[in-house]
Amino acid sequence: RTLSIIKPDAVAKNVIGGVTAKLEGAGLRILASKMVRLTEAQAKAFYAVHAERGFYNDLVKFMTEGPVVVQVLEGENAVAANRAIMGATNPEKADAGTIRKEFATNIERNAVHGSDAAETAKEEIAFFFSTAELAALAR
Ligand code: ADP
Ligand code: MG
Repeated sequence: RTLSIIKPDAVAKNVIGGVTAKLEGAGLRILASKMVRLTEAQAKAFYAVHAERGFYNDLVKFMTEGPVVVQVLEGENAVAANRAIMGATNPEKADAGTIRKEFATNIERNAVHGSDAAETAKEEIAFFFSTAELAALAR
């Protein structure tokens, strides 16, 4: 399992469906999904690992500017499969056919978030979804 976020730029561009089709096309299954508007406190906490980076304040502002779609994805090697279909952080460096190549604007407004390892995936899923919520959605 891994956590995906369709960021405010992609939601504003009306490509929730386009992004999700890429995820599903990569063999990932949407286990849970909801649209939320992050508070400043939530965005700061979610990206706390980047607190010392120069782009942190702008990133928090961007992630709170509009609604996002948070999704739990499931599949074989879900973390790596999601990172592969996302493409590079900087869309100029992203491979053809990836979400960021197709839908991102720039290195900040880059359409999607994806967990970077199994352990962070666990933490990030728990950040947005309770165990009971996920259990109720199990198929
Ligand atoms: P990724 O989302 O690919 O895992 P990082 O974890 O390094 O990338 O960065 C988190 C997010 O911070 C990026 O997705 C992007 O929105 C933003 N970001 C990263 N690097 C920069 C940068 N140099 N300038 C502006 N924003 C950045
Ligand atoms: Mg990251």
